[in-house]
Amino acid sequence: MAEFPRPYPQPDRDTAPFWEAQNRHELKFQRCSRCDAFRYPVGPLCPECLSFDFEWVASSGRGTIHSYTVVQHQTHPAFPAPYTVLLVEMEEGPRVIAQLRAPEDASFGIDTPVRVEWEDHEQQSLPVFVIDR
Ligand code: ZN
Repeated sequence: MAEFPRPYPQPDRDTAPFWEAQNRHELKFQRCSRCDAFRYPVGPLCPECLSFDFEWVASSGRGTIHSYTVVQHQTHPAFPAPYTVLLVEMEEGPRVIAQLRAPEDASFGIDTPVRVEWEDHEQQSLPVFVIDR
């Protein structure tokens, strides 16, 4: 298999805890300490109330398919087409983009329950989703 590209910027003060949690196979979101809004992707302040205060909260790892696309055109050797990219609405509310891992004949659609699993790459574990039936 081709070398997996490193698609992310170097972790910084704000994002390092998020990436480190992923390497422990934990999906974490920031939750605002003032208004309880979840914030994702990681950011320095709450988009709802502009507070800088937050806590890291572990996701259940479960959600439902909000949208998806099947990629037919291969753009990198590490991503053989076709593959399915999901937009998953997590139980906590944030929507996460990741690939679906399922047999080619798997049946799924909008609102299908999915759960996160992890794929370990050279420097970074990344989430994928599997159908959760
Ligand atoms: Zn807030």
